[in-house]
Amino acid sequence: MKILYPGTFDPLTNGHLDLIQRAEKLFGNVVVAVLENTNKTPTFDLNKRILQIRTSLSHLSNIEVISYTGLTVDCAKDVKANIILRGLRAMSDFEYELQIAHTNKSLNTEIETIFLSTNTNYSFLSSSLVKEVAKFGGEISHMVPLCVEKDLKEYFN
Ligand code: ADP
Repeated sequence: MKILYPGTFDPLTNGHLDLIQRAEKLFGNVVVAVLENTNKTPTFDLNKRILQIRTSLSHLSNIEVISYTGLTVDCAKDVKANIILRGLRAMSDFEYELQIAHTNKSLNTEIETIFLSTNTNYSFLSSSLVKEVAKFGGEISHMVPLCVEKDLKEYFN
């Protein structure tokens, strides 16, 4: 089964990585779809974010990394995935994620959204928090893959 995992991944964290690896075990094929959000200027450009994900997942063969713009349901349809995966870290994620899931359902009834709860070890992680720590020279090696750690150190140097 093929599952779509959409997100901004600016940058990829160990929380994202853990979710992708667990989804691969459960569903077989995971398409990680990196959103090119034209409304926001990301820290890392699209190609860099894709490269970070590909590098961190090079040991897995059933993962595809693509970019997309526009509606997530259209992206899912394009890659022939009937399921969208999202992660839940805390109650604070729930309200927002549920709203998106209902919106997507209203746009395409064929596509289901499923949620995986975060790994307890990574439940505090978010891309923006990691960037904040990196900015002030804090330890981030337990938060992000090695290639992302290098990129963040370079960016904030
Ligand atoms: P978006 O801008 O679409 O929320 P993110 O890159 O922030 O993109 O997150 C993509 C998905 O990964 C979301 O479903 C989010 O809840 C999930 N996620 C983010 N951080 C973690 C984490 N530490 N553990 C598990 N899932 C996470």
